[in-house]
Amino acid sequence: MSRVTFHGAYGCVTGSATHLAWGDTRVLVDCGLYQGDEALEARNWNPFPFPPRELTAVVATHAHLDHTGLLPRLAAAGFEGPVYCTRASRALISLLLEDAGELQEEEARYARKKGYSRHAEPRPLYTAADAKRAIKLLRPLPFDAEHDLAPGVRLRYRRAGHLLGAATVEIAAKGADGERRRWCFSGDVGRYGVPILKDPEPPLAAPAALVLESTYGDRCHAPERTDEELRRVITETFGRGGMVIVPAFALGRTQEVLYHLAAMADEGALDPADVFLDSPMAISATELYERASAEHDEEMAELVSNHSSPLAGDLFQRCRTVEQSKRLNGRTKPAVIVAASGMATGGRVVHHLVQRLGDRRTTVLFVGYQAAGTRGRALVDGADRVAIHGRPVPVRAEIRYLRSLSAHADRDELLRWCRALPAPPQRVFLNHGEDPARKALEAAIVDELGELGWPRPALPLPGDSAPWTRHRGRKECS
Ligand SMILES: [Zn+2]
Repeated sequence: MSRVTFHGAYGCVTGSATHLAWGDTRVLVDCGLYQGDEALEARNWNPFPFPPRELTAVVATHAHLDHTGLLPRLAAAGFEGPVYCTRASRALISLLLEDAGELQEEEARYARKKGYSRHAEPRPLYTAADAKRAIKLLRPLPFDAEHDLAPGVRLRYRRAGHLLGAATVEIAAKGADGERRRWCFSGDVGRYGVPILKDPEPPLAAPAALVLESTYGDRCHAPERTDEELRRVITETFGRGGMVIVPAFALGRTQEVLYHLAAMADEGALDPADVFLDSPMAISATELYERASAEHDEEMAELVSNHSSPLAGDLFQRCRTVEQSKRLNGRTKPAVIVAASGMATGGRVVHHLVQRLGDRRTTVLFVGYQAAGTRGRALVDGADRVAIHGRPVPVRAEIRYLRSLSAHADRDELLRWCRALPAPPQRVFLNHGEDPARKALEAAIVDELGELGWPRPALPLPGDSAPWTRHRGRKECS
């Protein structure tokens, strides 16, 4: 029996994992880490709800850890098959997983040393060696070409515009009736008309079923000008002698922030000596972004041809070592510090927050989605103190949130992407969204695409599954 089973990213935006089974073929689309509050992150320790050794392949939509972060666990659990991804994704996934493995080990060590973990003997979720094992399984594929995933099963990647290498996935396989059926997984859909990368592209063929992300299904991004807002925040903060701390996802958001900062520096509005990129991974990712000319949009391509470095990778101060990062603690002159992680759940930005959150002159500028339960969400929601390393830290800094820098399409952009499909799908499943967002997108699809022949979307729950082909009269997941 052919079935599609939804394991992750239900009612939340992390832990993406969808299992496809038909005949002897077993494919997992994404193998993401849960990120958020303790209860959510506890799911990372659950055994996989399928035997990892039986998987034929994993298909990764893009590098973000909420789509790839459990690959090392999968490899540690015995999966040895290929992990397909786009060419640009391979470089980014390698960077991220290597870092994740080291971070897991480091956090377990730190928790042991400081004794703030509830566990007597904190252990890592996986090790750096597990991460290396997963990286060896990566098999890069080009965009737009069909690839045989298994006998009778084909895979094709389309650009999703969300991150360097990010893709929408089309998988076509023959059903029990011998007819070829196409499933499309949107992956994370990016925004239209933003700098650096090409815009999202719809699948080439009409899918019978669509699994669509719904992160921002309940809102439209404010039409703010990112460059103007960024400029205002920096000018105001520097004016009162403070630091601008930007918790940034090392991949994607960081490069977009750098793009705008580089433009400011180019105009003489910002001294490049006052901008610190405090993340070895972000430094490496920025170099990859600059080199990936096939993925650049027209504006970026033009900048690259006229300007040696539109992301100013070599102009700004780079902190690769921990010592360079620590030196920033003693700095009193205003500066922009861009450091991961984007939701302030880990990474070097946490140390800057310990140092500067209590200072009224500081601005903490969030530039991406803040999942429920994260420290970033608590700050954006106005918490007057947050716990860091088991201790309360008072919040006196100004907290700002630049929503226009989100890497995700908003409701209208998701509908725009849907309208670009060659034909309406017969079935739609919404995942990768907190429930209010999923429900709002469900209503929007019914209201705005219903007359075009779109069905009411299903909102799968954990472990819900649907047959690969629809059985007449049978109810699938709700
Ligand atoms: Zn993503």
